[in-house]
Amino acid sequence: MNDILPPDSAKWEWLEDKVRALMARYAYRNIRTPIVEPTPLFVRGLGEVTDIVEKEMYSFEDRLNGEQLTLRPEATAGVVRAVAEHNMLYEGGKRLFYMGPMFRHERPQRGRYRQFHQIGAEALGFPGAEVDAELILLANALWCELGLKNIRLEINSLGEPAERKAHRAALIAYLEQHADVLDDEARRRLHSNPLRILDTKNPAMQSLVDAAPRLIDFLGAESLAHFSSVKAILNANGVEWRVNPRLVRGMDYYNLTVFEFVTDQLGSQGTICGGGRYDYLIEQIGGKPAPAVGWALGVERVLELLKEQGCVVPALVPDVYAIVPSAASLPLVISTVERLRVQGVKVQMHAALAGGDGMGSMKSQFKKADTSGAVYALIFGEDELSRGMVTLKSLRDGTGAQSERALDALVDWAPHLQSVS
Ligand code: ATP
Ligand code: MG
Repeated sequence: MNDILPPDSAKWEWLEDKVRALMARYAYRNIRTPIVEPTPLFVRGLGEVTDIVEKEMYSFEDRLNGEQLTLRPEATAGVVRAVAEHNMLYEGGKRLFYMGPMFRHERPQRGRYRQFHQIGAEALGFPGAEVDAELILLANALWCELGLKNIRLEINSLGEPAERKAHRAALIAYLEQHADVLDDEARRRLHSNPLRILDTKNPAMQSLVDAAPRLIDFLGAESLAHFSSVKAILNANGVEWRVNPRLVRGMDYYNLTVFEFVTDQLGSQGTICGGGRYDYLIEQIGGKPAPAVGWALGVERVLELLKEQGCVVPALVPDVYAIVPSAASLPLVISTVERLRVQGVKVQMHAALAGGDGMGSMKSQFKKADTSGAVYALIFGEDELSRGMVTLKSLRDGTGAQSERALDALVDWAPHLQSVS
């Protein structure tokens, strides 16, 4: 679990701002659900034989009433609970997005943390392929907006429950024939969740899973038509994709379309975003049946990829650093700085440091102004102040140009101090 400190936190805020603006363009609205949910919500929603439920959840007992609670390992189950609880689909579909921390007890490594952050989008109440495609286009637009490249889109269709059942029987029969090649985990999952065996990372089992019966060959006409529609919309919009028949995703709740955005630039944790359709989840957790589709991206991995690709995230810098030669001027300086801030100017005011000598020398104050990144210094010298003036000095254009401004005309000149961003 990491602390996120400045200046790094500015990158998080930058990303979040980009996401908010983009979600508004697709008319997705923000939802905020609790970090803690009753454990059975995840067990029922994600499926008992999944990595998350089997070994990754932070679960504990409420000391007051003995209720089993869990720190959310993902947000879809909570969103679906909220949608059902507040009858949010009574007048049609809902498009929602969230951002926030998730918790999984995993072995920490690059791109894999125990508290990590997801941004997710969910569309509930819409059965059509156009909404699957909309969500993929939305994620794709985000990569463009962030300036990310070399992300490939893998898609697959998991079909409908009856089709999966037929495939499952064929798959179990096939795997039983090759039981000697299965590892312990695969043997354990053979009858509980054989589809997940296809997702194995064990190299010794690769050729076995490569030749296994493919779910896609068991899909009926309707499922195939849904899948084709998604692909056609992506094609029409210039989004490249590749069918990965082994893509099954970690949670049990998916059906029809599933997808992942993957990069080769992050080592073995290359999936930055994953999602799909989950038409049976709402019913599964006790709500009125409704179709749904969504995705979640890993914020840490997206930020790591931005760094890897050398994308420049604008740093947060003040417009102005206020230099205060004498503490006696502080009341006037503070009220002036406050008026500037009302005008929208970002001002960092010099302040005395613990253990320092009062406000410090002009030289040390200018040094602070320089490291702050401020574009201008405003020098509140006693002499200027007594004449109702302040000195404005440019710090970044190389000229060091200096001029005086009248305090009573601040509303006129303050807007010129603001940087464009
Ligand atoms: P993985 O196969 O890497 O474990 P997952 O299938 O468990 O991923 P999802 O539950 O689909 O992941 O979560 C969506 C995204 O959240 C992932 O694609 C990844 O970017 C991110 N993510 C998942 N687990 C972690 C983690 N422990 N630390 C950081 N990011 C994570
Ligand atoms: Mg995982």
